[in-house]
Amino acid sequence: MSSTNDTPIWAIDGFPYKSFSSKAVWNAIRISNPKRFWAPLLWHKAAIPRHAISSWLFMLNRNPTLDRLSSWGFDVELDCLLCGMAQESRNHLFFDCVFSAEVWRLITQRLGFSSPPILWDHVLFWLSTISGSKYKKLALLQGWQGAIYELWRERNRRFHDGLSLSPVIVAKHIISTLENKCNALNQLGFKHGISILQCWII
Ligand SMILES: [Zn+2]
Repeated sequence: MSSTNDTPIWAIDGFPYKSFSSKAVWNAIRISNPKRFWAPLLWHKAAIPRHAISSWLFMLNRNPTLDRLSSWGFDVELDCLLCGMAQESRNHLFFDCVFSAEVWRLITQRLGFSSPPILWDHVLFWLSTISGSKYKKLALLQGWQGAIYELWRERNRRFHDGLSLSPVIVAKHIISTLENKCNALNQLGFKHGISILQCWII
């Protein structure tokens, strides 16, 4: 029988620790989430939080688009509320829809891009690989997230209130919101605010 007192030893993944380390335990038990290639498209220093969160939910395809409501057993008309010419799904809304594609075209055109891709996967690839000025790229990411947020808002306006705006008005609203964001960044002392704003001003 030993004359010394027993002392607990923490062992995490086979390595002994003299004391409990919550950080080491957390790192050992958490399910590591491999960094997704699209994370930088969502979380960047010029993002508007409500736009980024909405885009993130669509990235995960978690929003109640009509195709998903139908798959859950709800008896709903599947026609797209923006164009009425196809079934509503995430990939149709962003931007394989004539209404959405026009909004997306107006926004990208403002930044000097012509013929932007409109299919969901193609847009993600384009945004991930586009080269050029980092401010122009941040403005483009702002515009993409703004389009997702405002197009879903327009869709909900039609779904719940029966009201509708034109693609031009939706695009103008997105751009003015982003200009306000850039001005706010600038007033807070973030110099990239003015550089991104210059991308939006024609
Ligand atoms: Zn449509």
